[in-house]
Amino acid sequence: MFWADRHKEEIKKRFLSNDGTLVIRDEKTASGRVHIGSMRGVAIHGTIRDVLHEDGIKAKFLYEINNFDPMDGIPAELDEDEWREHLGKPLKDIPSPDGKAKNFAEYYASEFKDVIAESGFTPEYYNASELYLEGKMNDVIREALDSADTIRDIYKKVSRSEKKSDWLPVSVVCEECGKIGTTQAHAWDGEKVSYSCLDGPGGAVGCKNEGSVEPWDGRAKLPWKVEWAAKWKVVGVDVEGGGKDHSTKGGAREVASNIAKKVFNIESPYDIPYEFFLDKNGKKMSSSGGRGVSSREIASNFPPAILRLALIGKEPTVQTSIDPQGELLPLLYDWHDKIAKKYWDGVGDDDARLFEILYHSKPPKEMYHPRFQTIAFVAQMEHVDTEKQFAELKESVLTKEEVTELNERVEFTKLWLDNYAPEKYRFVLAKDTIPEGVKGFSDSQKKALARVLQFVEENKSLDGAKFHEELHRIKEAEGIAPKDLFTALYVAFLGRDSGPQAGWFLSTLDRDFLISRLKESI
Ligand SMILES: [Zn+2]
Repeated sequence: MFWADRHKEEIKKRFLSNDGTLVIRDEKTASGRVHIGSMRGVAIHGTIRDVLHEDGIKAKFLYEINNFDPMDGIPAELDEDEWREHLGKPLKDIPSPDGKAKNFAEYYASEFKDVIAESGFTPEYYNASELYLEGKMNDVIREALDSADTIRDIYKKVSRSEKKSDWLPVSVVCEECGKIGTTQAHAWDGEKVSYSCLDGPGGAVGCKNEGSVEPWDGRAKLPWKVEWAAKWKVVGVDVEGGGKDHSTKGGAREVASNIAKKVFNIESPYDIPYEFFLDKNGKKMSSSGGRGVSSREIASNFPPAILRLALIGKEPTVQTSIDPQGELLPLLYDWHDKIAKKYWDGVGDDDARLFEILYHSKPPKEMYHPRFQTIAFVAQMEHVDTEKQFAELKESVLTKEEVTELNERVEFTKLWLDNYAPEKYRFVLAKDTIPEGVKGFSDSQKKALARVLQFVEENKSLDGAKFHEELHRIKEAEGIAPKDLFTALYVAFLGRDSGPQAGWFLSTLDRDFLISRLKESI
């Protein structure tokens, strides 16, 4: 069963008696450019909502932009000296880097929201600050403060993290400097929290203010593992998965689940743990260590259906690569075309189901798919009329939908060739100079090429399939190893020893050029 359907069945079982709307939630802290890793959560939750909707189950996907967390680091693209003063402030209270967006959090969130929309996911957004400022978190803040002992105990037992005996599960917004990452709460009298504004994580500098405040209506926030559980209660979350880094034994998820149960008296949401994305070398992609790729960069280089395939094609528990560098794009296209065929052939397996889900249960009707590798080649051959070539390969005129698909593939192929493709995909027709390698041709290679020349001279128009058959006839007749014949052809025309399907490739070339280069090669 396809992974999303398997989870759907489990969710249906657990919420059998629920006749309201199921709430699916995910979140991202808007503290900088959003890395592609965060798209996995969006894609998994978005897909779960889609498959629930297919079954007529009411479900909504809420996506929180966490804009109330303090800035605990300066994004690499910003000047450290200029931005240091903002460390420790809530992200919503920091100016936007472009001076246009409402604030720092909105600036980064809006880029990410665009990427989410381009990927075909449509969550409903809300800001974490709304929960606090509108007083929706007041009750859970009181519950957490009243249960500070229990929370300290959970941290100690579950994650082996020992808090000081006066540690309180709350961060106050300093009344003097407005920072939230610098304050340490040390007393709670049932009405007010007393705090000191010291120094905070990431180099945040406090103002040394000592104060006490009523921690309601946005004047304080919960620390994130407590907050995670608190939001499940306040938002009424039924389904929420989490990344592997939080899902380990003793990790944030386990801490939050314990707090949910023992402090907030609720059951944790249905969990879908998910793995990391990898780069082309199989290393974890991350914004901190390793190679980081922003979600924007990926979305700009992968067409929507292909991006969705990369995001949801594999089981959430499987590590999978998503990297514009290397050969992923060709692999994804071939994978896409394979599952399309299965769907159109009525195979009805997980692959066919995946194709259906890629297109929101409304997949395109059967069409000819030009192979990516062929496109990659054609896109580099200026002399080739792309549409005409693919009509020839298809052996009939392309439909309107096929032309649209072809044009999209050509566009993304060119981007990939310009920026990411490995060397072996790059071809330049050796039109003006005779490649050096030609000098090294053996007698048997030259004899075979002479027969190719004869075939070209005898045929006014050259057809890829016929050319292909002829090359095989020549190979048999001359008793030449296939590799020797094909290598000679690639060297003569591309100056390298490999290339696309030879008969087809030669048939695309200008006939006079073909004749003159074959003559020069024998
Ligand atoms: Zn302060």
